[in-house]
Amino acid sequence: MYRGRFAPTPSGRLHLGSLLSAAGAYLRALQAGGSCLLRLEDLDRPRCKVEYAGSIIADLKTLGFAFAPEILIQSSDLSPYAATVEALIKTGKAYVCACSRRQIRERPCTCRQLNLPYKRGRAIRLDCHDAPRDFYDERLGSIHVPLIPDSLILKRSDGVYSYNLACVTDDLRQGVTEVVRGSDLIASTPLQIYLYQLLGKKPPQFLHLPLITSKGGGKLSKQNHAAPVLDSYRPTEAILLTLKLLGQDTQGLTHLSPAEIWPVVAQRFDLDAIAHNDIELDD
Ligand code: GLU
Repeated sequence: MYRGRFAPTPSGRLHLGSLLSAAGAYLRALQAGGSCLLRLEDLDRPRCKVEYAGSIIADLKTLGFAFAPEILIQSSDLSPYAATVEALIKTGKAYVCACSRRQIRERPCTCRQLNLPYKRGRAIRLDCHDAPRDFYDERLGSIHVPLIPDSLILKRSDGVYSYNLACVTDDLRQGVTEVVRGSDLIASTPLQIYLYQLLGKKPPQFLHLPLITSKGGGKLSKQNHAAPVLDSYRPTEAILLTLKLLGQDTQGLTHLSPAEIWPVVAQRFDLDAIAHNDIELDD
């Protein structure tokens, strides 16, 4: 049974780029007759705000999405992430690192050889020399990621579990069969596949969507203050624009409610119509 997910970070309100990812993930799940889960990736507490989480959930509802009823909020229970770190330590590939970010930039880290004990203020890293460089994308085909870092952070020195660690932990325990997300995460995918390999688990399928860039380039994101999508567009307008950006046929949709639009589009959802490159927004 197909299980997809949309996993926003509540560091701002829903913008057009996140709506595009939500639409892609949701339409794939509807088309496959499966379900789509909603997960709030809020482990990086300084970046995330409870009110953004609430507004993302409310905006998605206004936009007619019907995600599976149980929403996973990562910060509500950290024990699954601790368990994955433990499992990775057992593989012998994870190690405690006492270097600051600056030291990591300036000279090679030798902590792997030192076998340091874990204590507050130290990070846990994973040796990535054996990580794969290639993976298959359901839309783009074979992808080669030439630059893989020497190591991957599992738990930061401030105690925060990393995105890659938490994402794999949750995609696994939620039984996700396909990950649909923006192309900005392509470089993370081989690293995540490596985590599945080390954990002895089968990775899900991966499908990356184009990014929306503002005129003159630059990814639209919460960091560069892309406007909350429902501040700029009415719900139906926002959906139709998103579908157009995804190259989909929008005929016969204008008089439907947001919730009615998605099943109609899912029937005729055409993966091949989605652009291979980033999409530049006109205004
Ligand atoms: N939380 C990430 C973001 O908002 C997405 C992670 C994912 O889909 O794997 O960009």
